[in-house]
Amino acid sequence: MAEKYLLQCDCGKQPPVSPKQAGNRIRCECGNLLDVPTLGKLRYLPIGQENPTGKGEVRGNSPTWGLRQAIASAGIIAAVGFLVAAAYFWATEPEVPHLDPVQSKQELAAHLEESAPVDLWRLWQLDYSRLADRGFLVFETPERDHIQRIAAQQRLYRNGALVLAGVSALLSGVGYFLAPRPKSHQR
Ligand SMILES: [Zn+2]
Repeated sequence: MAEKYLLQCDCGKQPPVSPKQAGNRIRCECGNLLDVPTLGKLRYLPIGQENPTGKGEVRGNSPTWGLRQAIASAGIIAAVGFLVAAAYFWATEPEVPHLDPVQSKQELAAHLEESAPVDLWRLWQLDYSRLADRGFLVFETPERDHIQRIAAQQRLYRNGALVLAGVSALLSGVGYFLAPRPKSHQR
């Protein structure tokens, strides 16, 4: 964006000049010849931009932040947010305790061999009679079920967040290219 300094003509127009024109003379649209100040004095003039009609209209900072940039940025921010969420669900997913039935039986057998009959009776009363009712093969504790449910939920959230991150990134790209381009104020 070329910055222009605005001269003031008696006719009321403000012809824009660039620093390259410092020290020269330009002709206003009305026909007046105007002296362009030297480079050192140019900076005291108001800054404006040449608009397409050439009438050096004073403008503030023209927004370079167009709809395209807004859409792209929003999409990228959303995508990053969802990625962070996915990472969180991945990091906090509880580990389901691994239960090897063969190993469990071996440990149980070893334990039973070194236990006194009284202990065995207690053990039977407290734990194994109930296990026997349910079946020894179903060797799962309620805690394990619970952890498994939480882990499955975390995986679901994580995958959902990953999908949303992908969709956001995609929409950001598509939106950027489909949104109307901002009108250029430059020549
Ligand atoms: Zn003029």
